[in-house]
Amino acid sequence: MAKKKPKKAAEAKADARSVSLPCGRERAHSAGPVAPSQVESLHARLKHYLEAQGLKYSEQRWKIAKVVLASAEHLSAQEIIRRVEGEYPDIGAATVYRNIKVLCDARILKETLLDAEDRVVYEAFEEGHHDHIVCLDCGAIFEFHEPRIESLQASVTDALSFSEVRHRHVIYAHCKLLK
Ligand SMILES: [Zn+2]
Ligand SMILES: [Zn+2]
Repeated sequence: MAKKKPKKAAEAKADARSVSLPCGRERAHSAGPVAPSQVESLHARLKHYLEAQGLKYSEQRWKIAKVVLASAEHLSAQEIIRRVEGEYPDIGAATVYRNIKVLCDARILKETLLDAEDRVVYEAFEEGHHDHIVCLDCGAIFEFHEPRIESLQASVTDALSFSEVRHRHVIYAHCKLLK
C-alpha cells in the first residue's frame, strides 16, 4: 500500500533551475535572478549612495554586487567570496568582505538571516517582503509570504502601540519529505 503523501510546502516558490534537494524537493528560493531593469536601478542606487557618502565608485564594488544579484540565492560571506574569486580572481577576499558591508548599507544587498550553521546569509535587496524557512537537514533556504502571519504581526505591533519598520520571521525546521 502506498504511504500517505506528506504535505507539500505550498508557500515555497519553485526555482526555475529545478535543482533537486536530497528530499526530492526542488531547490526553492527567490523567484530568480534580479531582473535587468532592477539591476540597473540598483547600480544607480549604489552610485548615488557612494557619492552621498563621499566614497569612491569602483567597478570592483559593482562586480561583487552583480555576483549576488545574478545568483538569486541566499549566500554566506564565504560563499560570496568563493564566487567572486571564481569570476574575478583579481578581487581578494578582504575586499569582498569589506564591500559586502558597504553594499548592505547602500541597500543593494541585505543581511537576511542566520542559516542552519549560524552563518549570516545575504540576498539581493528587494522592495517586496518575504519570510524564510531554513531546512535543518540540507540547509536549503525557502521563501514564503503568508498574509495571515503578516496581518497577525501587524495587529500585535498595533496592540502594543508600535509602528513596525521591519521584521524578520525565520522558521528553522526538519524536512518531512526526507526518507
Ligand atoms: Zn513577514
Ligand atoms: Zn529570501
